Amino acid sequence: MTVRVRIAPSPTGNLHIGTARTAVFNWLFAHHCQGQFILRVEDTDKERSRSEYTENIKSGLAWLGLTWDEGPFFQTQRLDLYRQAIQTLLDKGFAYRCYSTPEELEQMREAQKAKNQAPRYDNRHRHLTEEQRQAFEAEGRKSVIRFIIDDDREIVWQDLIRGKVTWRGSDLGGDMVIARVADDPQQSFGQPLYNLAVVVDDMDMKISHVIRGEDHIANTAKQILLYEAFGATVPDFAHSPLILNQEGRKLSKRDGVTSIDDFRQMGFLPQALTNYMTLLGWTPPDSTEEIFALTEAAQQFTLERVNKAGAKFDWDKLDWINSQYLHKMSGEELVDLLLPYWQQAGYPIDIGSDRPWLEQMATLIGPSLTRLSDATKESVLLFGETVDYSEEAMAQIKQEGVKDILKAVLEGIGESSQLTEGEVKDNIKQVTKTFKVKKGLVMRSLRAGLMGELHGPDLIQSWLLLNQKGWDKTRLIHCLDVC
Ligand code: GLU
Repeated sequence: MTVRVRIAPSPTGNLHIGTARTAVFNWLFAHHCQGQFILRVEDTDKERSRSEYTENIKSGLAWLGLTWDEGPFFQTQRLDLYRQAIQTLLDKGFAYRCYSTPEELEQMREAQKAKNQAPRYDNRHRHLTEEQRQAFEAEGRKSVIRFIIDDDREIVWQDLIRGKVTWRGSDLGGDMVIARVADDPQQSFGQPLYNLAVVVDDMDMKISHVIRGEDHIANTAKQILLYEAFGATVPDFAHSPLILNQEGRKLSKRDGVTSIDDFRQMGFLPQALTNYMTLLGWTPPDSTEEIFALTEAAQQFTLERVNKAGAKFDWDKLDWINSQYLHKMSGEELVDLLLPYWQQAGYPIDIGSDRPWLEQMATLIGPSLTRLSDATKESVLLFGETVDYSEEAMAQIKQEGVKDILKAVLEGIGESSQLTEGEVKDNIKQVTKTFKVKKGLVMRSLRAGLMGELHGPDLIQSWLLLNQKGWDKTRLIHCLDVC
């Protein structure tokens, strides 16, 4: 059997972390089985669907490296197919016209509520006679199409993540609407609805496995009945656990970020994010191995190893994974990723000529980054002709004798803007010897004078960076004025 899976987002918002994680599982499964991964845009909800969301979803999946083999297919371009399918169900007697008015449905719900019953359609128009139908039509009533759901049916499937799942037909809310009222008088029924369209598409696209969030379980029960009515093979189903916040509730906008764009802007790498999403519910056979590329995970990915329980979103873990990727990157790789953050911070950069310098900067600060956005604070001390001094740094440069030490260092630099590591170290050694002081004092004073802080990136490397810009001199001259 050829494995064919799909991700079927509705373009009613930006690409959401939950959808992206479902896409990750589908992608991994497809690649594990050498199957195909299909992108289908479920855009039949005209009021809420927007083309910019479709673009966001496509670019988000591409950014994450979740390449699709077929599509994107758009449901709005396939309406005829759904209409034909609805007609088939009507012709076969699996579906019927329901003329209940919104007021009648409301009354029905009220009555059920009063009796403490769950709201459901009471199937009242399932067996209308031809005369009754004509009478409703003559009244000018409009009809929806409902699919018959037998209350006594037990719907059972072997879920590839959750094991055996059983649903009672009576828990599905009565006969299900599969097409709205026609707003076009030419059409005999209106907009086809979600469950119908999904089944028609999954049949037409020969989807072998439907892997999606557990919030779709009740839909699966309804959809199995539709497959049966069409006489089609029912695909395998796998319902993945939801992503939960720290309180154990479904991760939502209230938890800060939920869209993939948010994560991108916060400075997460796509490979770190997919790595993390893979672990959100899946346990690799060797659970000590937590850093892997999508292609590596795909070799080992099976649905049996996806947990049933909800997966708690853990920011610390995501940060840790992101830092693992960042720390392995060379300055050359990092520089393009960090540039937007430096630019956004307004640091003086000449993209044309500064690249080699920025690469060295990236090499220097790379090991201290957790997120790309940390580049702003990690490099703030390295941009500019002068710096402000922290209280500690000020105390350091005001210490007796420090001014002379820094003056001697400045003289040692001379006119050079191409100091080498060896020259810088010699300068420090020389000053230490001349003033007969401890090296630590010289280093601390230099750090205070050059960087304005007593903590920060490697001092020698920082100095070399400043030296190329001539900022070591301007900073020390300024410092001598202050101390
Ligand atoms: N369009 C549905 C959603 O965005 C997905 C349907 C499915 O995967 O079957 O939740």
